[in-house]
Amino acid sequence: MTSRRDFIKISALGAGALVVGTGKINALKGLSSPEEVKKLVVDLKRTPTYCEVCFWKCAGWVYKTSEGKIWKIIGNDEDQHSNGRFCPRGTGGVGMYYDEDRLKTPLIRVEERGKQVFREATWDEALEVVASKMKEISSKYGPESMALLTHGSGSSYYTTLMKAFGSPNSTEPSYAQCKGPRDEAFFATFGEEVSSPEVTDIRDTKCMVLIGSHIGENMHNGQVQEMSDAIDKGATIITVDPRFSTAAGKSKFWLPIKPSTDIALLLAWIHEVIYNDIYDKKYVDMYCSGFDQLKSHVKDFTPEWAYGITTINPELIRTTAKEMADASPAVIIHPGRHVTWYGDDTQRVRAIAILNALLGSWWQRGGFYRPAKFDLASATIPEFKEPAKDWQDIFPGKYPIASMPVSNALIDASIPENKSAYPIKGWLVNATNLMSSIPDRANTIKAIQNLDLLVSIDTMPMEITGWADVVLPECTYLERYDYLRVSPHRKPALALRMPAAEPMYNTKPGYWIARELSKKLGLADYFPYEKIEDLLDWQLKKAGSSLEEMQRIGVKTFDRDYDDLYITEGMQVQFPTDSGKIELYSKYFESLGFDPLPKYVPHPEPPYGFYRLIYGRAPMHTFGRTSNNPNLHAIMSENSVWINPKVAKEWGLKTDQYIWLKNQDNVTSTFPIKIRVTERIRWDSVYMVHGFGHTQKQMTRCYGKGVSDTQLITNVLVDPLMGGTGMRSNFVTFVTEKPGEEVAS
Ligand code: SF4
Repeated sequence: MTSRRDFIKISALGAGALVVGTGKINALKGLSSPEEVKKLVVDLKRTPTYCEVCFWKCAGWVYKTSEGKIWKIIGNDEDQHSNGRFCPRGTGGVGMYYDEDRLKTPLIRVEERGKQVFREATWDEALEVVASKMKEISSKYGPESMALLTHGSGSSYYTTLMKAFGSPNSTEPSYAQCKGPRDEAFFATFGEEVSSPEVTDIRDTKCMVLIGSHIGENMHNGQVQEMSDAIDKGATIITVDPRFSTAAGKSKFWLPIKPSTDIALLLAWIHEVIYNDIYDKKYVDMYCSGFDQLKSHVKDFTPEWAYGITTINPELIRTTAKEMADASPAVIIHPGRHVTWYGDDTQRVRAIAILNALLGSWWQRGGFYRPAKFDLASATIPEFKEPAKDWQDIFPGKYPIASMPVSNALIDASIPENKSAYPIKGWLVNATNLMSSIPDRANTIKAIQNLDLLVSIDTMPMEITGWADVVLPECTYLERYDYLRVSPHRKPALALRMPAAEPMYNTKPGYWIARELSKKLGLADYFPYEKIEDLLDWQLKKAGSSLEEMQRIGVKTFDRDYDDLYITEGMQVQFPTDSGKIELYSKYFESLGFDPLPKYVPHPEPPYGFYRLIYGRAPMHTFGRTSNNPNLHAIMSENSVWINPKVAKEWGLKTDQYIWLKNQDNVTSTFPIKIRVTERIRWDSVYMVHGFGHTQKQMTRCYGKGVSDTQLITNVLVDPLMGGTGMRSNFVTFVTEKPGEEVAS
């Protein structure tokens, strides 16, 4: 059996530091002499933080030497997100602070867009340019023509600024490019989203099904730890993936499904549990609506039917359906996170939600728990004015269930020929490299060329920064306060992030940038506290704590108001849906003209000589944002392309050979990529880690290393329900000779 230690070790493959515990003693590991240890015990100072390297937001401690040098980051024992352990990426977060390629001072572009010729500016001058351009856009087109594309902790400040300015167009690409279909599918079924971190009760599960979700490689800290514990306790893991992932290696069953056929497998599983009477009848009778329609819908979707589509043996489909039912209700069909694959993603995740409901796992121990969140006091600010035009008005009727502005729709609305009801003319882009996060790069560039203003607020000179009119350098999370972390979990909790060091170079924290800009726009009342720490102290005092206490403890966990982590047997429950029931059959989707129950629809297959491009994560990197981090780059400096041995033989390709990839639309990768010949990938697909192939020379470490999957994603299948961009619809072939000229980014 795999022990927890083994699993985490494999997950952190090559990470050197692996997962570290907390406390001074753990921080001292690796020191050579007793004198060294003695000196550091005296000298070490620590400040609390929560990690910004990924969205899991683990709380930890930043240790410094007496000279004030940031030395190590480790987990906070009191934190539910990390349980006192940081993942390798989080441990390497210190590299963000020391990266000498960081943006260092405000910049204003002096040449045409794309040429990357800037001059240095003072903060006052740079913010003045941004504010006057924003006012100009507002008077010409209305304030709604300004959009915010953002990610991470800065989102809240800039979203407040945009609302105060009068624009409803603030969004995160993590909605339409990542988890939006999942959130909408669970909302349509249960009336609630799965939250972040996901409310999966993995620690007590008896069976977990991962469909294209590679826990361990994605390093979502708490999940990885709970999965390791569950495996130790004998839980069955079932992995559905065309690739033998790390998680597949820890699984009792690996189903190497033909890509794009997952809905067929899910329908066959639903058929099996219903027609063999192994679903949770009591739960379904009591809490679900639409069972009869579902039963007749899946009547013909037998394992034999699915075999012809998925290539998964019918017996394996039957056996795995029984494993899930035997574990019910302590079973999780994991909702996934990055789920924008084929454009029918909301419907696929609906099938996942339905299967969970049939097995009674929603709000049950070992399935999905009910999260609790601390209700923090908000500062009193003026009411936001209702914008004259809403975000849904840009393309009326499009993406009817989207619950926030769709990033790709905002980009499309920046291109005049798309004839949006009103144009988007200015973008504030914060901490998201649109050249990597949004597919169809040529379309993004076309949109940029039509803007009146592009502002990039970031810590690193990413590709998007090169296109900006004004660059505002933000300091890293290790140099600033941010709002308190209140993310929901099993218990409500607060976590503090405070500066471990003064901002390096001429960089500023997000709160300061938003507030200074608000002053220039006449909107300072929306940021009533001059210093964010005064706001935090006020909020913490209202919560029965104080900034001083949180600086000492970092994390404060509270009891739940009620003992309602799970529902109890026979409990009367009103689910927050229209009907008050879990909706297996969606009348809402039907009323909008969409399928009320998920259907399998075939997708195009790779042409002869092409292979489906699949991409994913590595435990030591978070997308492109960490590729230049000196600590993490030292562990993994480039990606490789996985090719099945049969295919490699046919093409005469060998491990470690460098090749270029060309997609179905004749786009060739700018840089070459190293081959990894492996049985761990199906013959009809190739796989690479996302976030490499940077074309920005200012990122000296990662420039030109590996291939960008986004560059090769030119065919996008948009989800008509919520606007998610399906990106697994691209096929590549191999180019062994250096192409004539480099492809511009
Ligand atoms: S999972 Fe790792 S990178 Fe993400 S927040 Fe936690 S420690 Fe940081």
